[in-house]
Amino acid sequence: MSGRRVYLSKSRLMSARQCLKRLHLEVQRPELMVHSAATQAAFDTGHAVGDIAHQVYGNDDAVVIPYEGGMGHALKKTARLVSEGPRYPIFEATFQHGGMLVRVDALLPDGDAWRIVEVKASTSVKDEHVFDCAAQRWVFEGSGHELTGIALAHVDNTFVYAGEGDFGDLLIESDETQSTGSLLGIIPGWISKAQDAAIGDEPVIGVGAHCFKPYECPFVSHCWPSNSEYPVQGLGGSKAKLGDWIAEGIEDIRDVPITRLSEKQQWIQKVTRSGKAELLPGAGDFAASLEYPRYYLDFETIMPAVPVWAGTRPYETLPIQYSCHYEPGPGTLEHADFLDLTGDPPMRRLAESMIRVLGKEGPVLMYTSYERTVILGLIERFPDLEAPLQAIVDRLVDLHPPTQQFYYHPAMAGSWSLKAVLPTIAVDMQYSELEGIQEGIAASEGYLEAIHLDTSPERKAELKQQLLQYCKFDTAALVRLVEFLATSGD
Ligand code: SF4
Repeated sequence: MSGRRVYLSKSRLMSARQCLKRLHLEVQRPELMVHSAATQAAFDTGHAVGDIAHQVYGNDDAVVIPYEGGMGHALKKTARLVSEGPRYPIFEATFQHGGMLVRVDALLPDGDAWRIVEVKASTSVKDEHVFDCAAQRWVFEGSGHELTGIALAHVDNTFVYAGEGDFGDLLIESDETQSTGSLLGIIPGWISKAQDAAIGDEPVIGVGAHCFKPYECPFVSHCWPSNSEYPVQGLGGSKAKLGDWIAEGIEDIRDVPITRLSEKQQWIQKVTRSGKAELLPGAGDFAASLEYPRYYLDFETIMPAVPVWAGTRPYETLPIQYSCHYEPGPGTLEHADFLDLTGDPPMRRLAESMIRVLGKEGPVLMYTSYERTVILGLIERFPDLEAPLQAIVDRLVDLHPPTQQFYYHPAMAGSWSLKAVLPTIAVDMQYSELEGIQEGIAASEGYLEAIHLDTSPERKAELKQQLLQYCKFDTAALVRLVEFLATSGD
């Protein structure tokens, strides 16, 4: 190994802790990184919570060290401010020591010294957060500064927003001075390992559960098998077990010895080997048991870490839109929906509209139990609507279990999500052909963008059309699914 060292940020140290190969690829092959929509959304949430931390811990004299000027500038500016003594809060204060560079979320004066607060959008303290705090402390103290304490501020999910921008109690602090103290000794070793991995040969590390914990790695699509026609991960189940099979050279669903498969996995393998979809007779019986009128229901929801409306909590699931296809009788299909982009809380009007549209009888078909959870949330929020909402809950029929029980197509690659099932039963219906919004996270983000005061009327109109189209597509897909299940008796 050469004596060359690379710039090691705290996030790179965290990557190394998850997997040394991840860090190596981040440094040497960054073009292979693919961040999922969920990871991207998590970054955005982190920024939103970070902005609140500036309100909570800042004051008129607080300084933010900008990122844009480069790390050299950030280090110099931090050094100058810190040399003046602990006088005002500094956000993103930047320090370097022992080959590592950290940016501290909030550096706060505490008497004659400083206190560090690391801010996370999570609702609890995790092991990786404590390690993260320890790395900051090691660099800060190693740079010759005195620390009175270090805390992790995370989102308090019992906080109820009172409105008027008052987020003073959104964050709750957990003192990590003691817990980080016991980790300081291992930080140099991790820095050294990370340095070696970054500039040395690619570490030989197989895939497994660590690819998803504590975070989904952006190299999953690179490291997990993708050359085989039916990658073995389509069998689902334990990631550790899949990793073991892959380490043995088994990369295709069809190659796993049957004795090592669960009953469900054996079915997936059997259908995959045959190359032909299987629709079991029970599907037709299930479809025939559904009486008319039939309703097909789907919600879109938001779960903002920073509440949008007074009376709501962080990460609370709030329905903002629904679509409902309904069949008064065989062969007749109608549609209704709800979407309000005024920016006012829509939950009450959504509930009332849904109660009207769903009438009093007939199955209300959904996919997975999500709709049930959302309606139960509405009951909790609006106790006066309990009776009609509970009546809807009592009529809910989940299409996911019978689909999982009676249907599999090799192209589903082990997934019974509606997005995996639909292309195999309705070639004319492709989510990828929807303009703009094509999945749930994009729908949440689209809604929040649409109600934002800075959004132009043209963009708002475009988002409205995309949101309506996407949600309607979901319930149209449910109609097609029931039609398809009914064909098993043909
Ligand atoms: S996908 Fe897994 S093995 Fe590959 S770099 Fe990421 S964590 Fe490591």
